[in-house]
Amino acid sequence: METATQKPPPANEAPRHRRSRIHEAMPGTGTHVVRRPVKPRPTTGRWRTTKNMAMLVILALFFILPHLPWPRPDGQPQQALLFDFAGGHAYVLWFRLGYEDLLLLMGLLLVSAMGLFFTNTLVGRVWCGFACPQTVWTDLFRKIDHALAPRVGRGGVRLFWVGVSFLTALTILAYFAPASTLWPAIFSGEAAAFVYAFLIAFTLATFFLATLVQDMVCTHFCPWPRFQAVMVDRDTRIVTYQAWRGEPRGPVKRKAFAETGAPKGDCVDCGLCVKVCPMGIDIREGSQLACIGCGLCADACDQVMDKLGLEEGLIKFSSDREQERAIAGTAAPAPRIRARTFGYGAMMLLVVAIIVPVYLDRIGVIVNVVPDRTGGFVTLSDGSIRNVYQLGVQDGRSPPGPLRITVDGLAPAEVLILSPGASTDHGNRVPAPSGRVNQENFRMLVTVPAGVAQGRVPVTFRFTPEEGGASVAEARATFVGPEPRQ
Ligand code: SF4
Ligand code: SF4
Repeated sequence: METATQKPPPANEAPRHRRSRIHEAMPGTGTHVVRRPVKPRPTTGRWRTTKNMAMLVILALFFILPHLPWPRPDGQPQQALLFDFAGGHAYVLWFRLGYEDLLLLMGLLLVSAMGLFFTNTLVGRVWCGFACPQTVWTDLFRKIDHALAPRVGRGGVRLFWVGVSFLTALTILAYFAPASTLWPAIFSGEAAAFVYAFLIAFTLATFFLATLVQDMVCTHFCPWPRFQAVMVDRDTRIVTYQAWRGEPRGPVKRKAFAETGAPKGDCVDCGLCVKVCPMGIDIREGSQLACIGCGLCADACDQVMDKLGLEEGLIKFSSDREQERAIAGTAAPAPRIRARTFGYGAMMLLVVAIIVPVYLDRIGVIVNVVPDRTGGFVTLSDGSIRNVYQLGVQDGRSPPGPLRITVDGLAPAEVLILSPGASTDHGNRVPAPSGRVNQENFRMLVTVPAGVAQGRVPVTFRFTPEEGGASVAEARATFVGPEPRQ
């Protein structure tokens, strides 16, 4: 690939900033330019307010959730959100998920993806503009810069950025190890070396992404803009410059317009929409891959329109069809719900309808009793009859616990539970799962005195918590005894 260093393309307020050493590819040219950081001018308006609120909620959730105390049974972590890979469980508020819940996790990922597609077909890249962590953290760092630079200077701002990056890294680690023990271990120097390695890596990554790379993540690294481009259609409402109304653009008091009486559009070419854009682009050039749909240019332009006494909305969320209708003077609203929005919405509901019963099923106790593959019965030396079964127990209770087994339809009957491959005898007690998964298999020996069971006898195994109470699961099976003598 040919590589050359050229003058950077114009960026908002570029002349005031020193050049970054990062080189940026110029799409389609095969060349690279020295990247000039985008430094958007702050603005106000309804989309800025919406962004602020979204940012507050996301940052609050991110920083608070792993530190929020959450009452759980003894032996389980007491924090609201924890992905305990070492222990094999994820603790999400009221839910305790194990490896057996991977299907549920896949369902949730699918619902999230469908949700993203659904909103994308309606209003374009609102996720990118308002909720993506890259956008939120970059926005936060820019706000810090703007608020503190006049007071503490560039060095102070950088120090503050490092502090926020470090706090972010600490919080990320608290998602994977209990914060109550992790933080003291880190600050007392007793944490494992890999913990410090992750801490440094996350701190550097946050600093790097939010201060040096910023908008380049969206334009060069993230695959989502490429995907979303094909999901946008003529009815998707994205941030659009209403060229039909704004052009021909020109300064308010431009003589040429006044003297010639030539028609002039509403755009006064003030450039404010470009100056506030966090991606450094000019939305008047048409919809672009780099546009994250944050609406800040619309806020800025509305302020200009207000000052000029013109109607707001020269830049606004609108679809191609809405623009066509506005040009034609048609007041009829463009459709919002179309086949593809309906399709994504329906798929989302379908996946939810599948995973909710799966999860509800899984939070109880599920047992499976099948005869041992030898089938039949064994006559012991004292004449008693024994059947052997394979027993599978999935204990989704929180916390799981030992269960007692009783047999209905066969009395008296002795039940003996054996762990597979081990000679451990648990009596009629199914021990609580000890591994990472809540499911365990056993051999179950059921023995009755001679003469108690003849032929095929239907039986029901009942599973009751060891501490007492009603049975939590039952399984039907058949006990096989000798055929009665004719
Ligand atoms: S802010 Fe509005 S008026 Fe100013 S240049 Fe942009 S589109 Fe034109
Ligand atoms: S063009 Fe407008 S909507 Fe797009 S990123 Fe820039 S400010 Fe946000």
